[in-house]
Amino acid sequence: MIEFFKQNFALLTLIGATLAVCSGVVWAIVYYLTYAVRSQVLGKTIWSGNARNNSVALTFDDGPAPDTLEILDILREENMKATFFLIGKQVEKYPEIAKRITDENHQIGNHSYSHPIFLFCGADKTSRELEKTQEIIKEATGITPKLARPPCGVRSPAYFAAAEELGLQTVQWSDAGFDWKKISAKRIARNVLETVQNNSIVLLHDGDSSGKSNRQATVKALPLILRGLKEKGLHVAPLDRMCPEIYESKPGSNFIAQSIKGEKQR
Ligand SMILES: [Zn+2]
Repeated sequence: MIEFFKQNFALLTLIGATLAVCSGVVWAIVYYLTYAVRSQVLGKTIWSGNARNNSVALTFDDGPAPDTLEILDILREENMKATFFLIGKQVEKYPEIAKRITDENHQIGNHSYSHPIFLFCGADKTSRELEKTQEIIKEATGITPKLARPPCGVRSPAYFAAAEELGLQTVQWSDAGFDWKKISAKRIARNVLETVQNNSIVLLHDGDSSGKSNRQATVKALPLILRGLKEKGLHVAPLDRMCPEIYESKPGSNFIAQSIKGEKQR
């Protein structure tokens, strides 16, 4: 055996390297299709606006949570509307905060029930996560969301099939505060302001999907972000005004998602 390895070392190394490269390439492709925020391969994904009037949309994920209240206070003071992508479990916990979001005319979207990575979920679990959240949000706010943002932005064919079934448009983002890292309010604001421009969709968080930390850094960053946007001549606009196609067109999915849907209907 050892003799075989010695004599064929070069060949075995070549085979090993080829397998490593192939698996690397396969993973790179899967990563692009599912994790890449702007990828359109598996289905239609909105990640920026198309308005011509220096608009920016603010989006908050993983709430509702206690910190959502302070964010709502700041937005109310500034007379600005944002979009909140709600986790079903959190809405069950804080239905009155979810109701305040819609009462104050902010937009809402479905961010799954338990925040799983859809790439690792089957078709049934994926559609249950979205369906259940639609029902919980409707129950708490009286509104059925038309928007969805998958946890961590990760989309799969099963996700697009389920989203299309529920009439959900997928909205990702173009700029982020990276507030999921443990960083200061100043750093969060700087992260946003360094890259933000006309038609940016900004990702921030008002809750924590693991329930382990609060979002006080984001709360404190928000006034800094709003001041910075003003200095740049940018104003905050509701998502549907920045991307009119959100409510005009039907959610798109490609043939892979379509075949999953067909499979489920059979
Ligand atoms: Zn999230």
